[in-house]
Amino acid sequence: MPPGLYLHVPFCQSKCRYCDFASTTDLDVLIDWQQALLTEIALVQEEGWSQPFDTFYLGGGTPSLLPGGVLATIFTQLRRRFVFTDDAEITLEANPDDVTLEKLGLWRDLGVNRLSLGVQSLQDAELGFLGRRHDAAQARRALGLAREAGLANLSVDLMYALPGQSLAGWLTTLKEVLAYRPEHLSCYQLTAAEHTPLGAAVARGEMVLPGEEEQRTFFLATSELLEAHGYCHYEVANFARGQPYISRHNSKYWQHGPYLGLGPAAHSFDGRRRWWNVRSVAQYCWQLAEGVLAIAGSETLSEVQLRLEALALGLRTRQGIALAELDSCPQAGRVLAELAQAGLITVHGGRACPTRRGLVVADSLALLLSG
Ligand code: SF4
Repeated sequence: MPPGLYLHVPFCQSKCRYCDFASTTDLDVLIDWQQALLTEIALVQEEGWSQPFDTFYLGGGTPSLLPGGVLATIFTQLRRRFVFTDDAEITLEANPDDVTLEKLGLWRDLGVNRLSLGVQSLQDAELGFLGRRHDAAQARRALGLAREAGLANLSVDLMYALPGQSLAGWLTTLKEVLAYRPEHLSCYQLTAAEHTPLGAAVARGEMVLPGEEEQRTFFLATSELLEAHGYCHYEVANFARGQPYISRHNSKYWQHGPYLGLGPAAHSFDGRRRWWNVRSVAQYCWQLAEGVLAIAGSETLSEVQLRLEALALGLRTRQGIALAELDSCPQAGRVLAELAQAGLITVHGGRACPTRRGLVVADSLALLLSG
């Protein structure tokens, strides 16, 4: 499998209430970050990176807030130093309030052929609760502009299982988004990560997130509705309107494929070894200004670790895992039979694949089968 390239853009205009991604609102360091990134690209290439990438994913943070000139400089350096396949999938994450026809044109001219739009909700009260900068009108406008601009591959991020959210309200948002015919949807359940304002509020008992049973109801209703509208529920949180729209980049993570990560906090994997950059933007800039890669740590996975990861990742996808991967698990035959009996997996064509109900408990499936 060809490697994918990930670029972490660690800037946001403001922090959302639930966010634990590596990002800063200090835009004064943007030019230092750009310079550090250009140096990182050069150093990685000089160290011998030569394989062509068939995906490039600009994530964050908020890549859509980068000025056109900064993005163009980064793309020029990348194309000068690295090789991309002619059909490379190039995704840019965008916040709705950044989207204009002018920016959409600029991104297209740079080679972006897939937009991941962080809509999250089409209800103003929910967007306010999440601490998003945009409102529902801006989200609708961005969806309309993406279609007007002729973008052929639009992915929309949504969040559900918010405190106080009704299932009917969530399905109304989902149906309204479907009217824009996105090629791909990522639907995430809200989680209260530690060290976020939301996590702190939950820890203090000021707020309660929906319980497991309610989350399960939202999950199953989401999957049923989207599959009824022709989407394939191919990973726990991801839906594609046909095989060509399955995220090629994210599939590398789920299939244990290789990827190179650039920017603060970015992770890389070569099929055996994993390494990651420092999370602090200041430290990233400082180390690269000294001409040193900003790697914070690395690990080489053993055969057993590789097998367990492949199992856990594979069971999060509808494609499942090859039965051969269970050869070393003495209980596998019995556990598979029990899971199939319970309607959580199907076994066919030499593979064990989670059903819709199995995806709800994907992480537990991996634990049971890793025995
Ligand atoms: S826009 Fe995304 S990365 Fe930025 S604070 Fe919000 S959730 Fe985090």
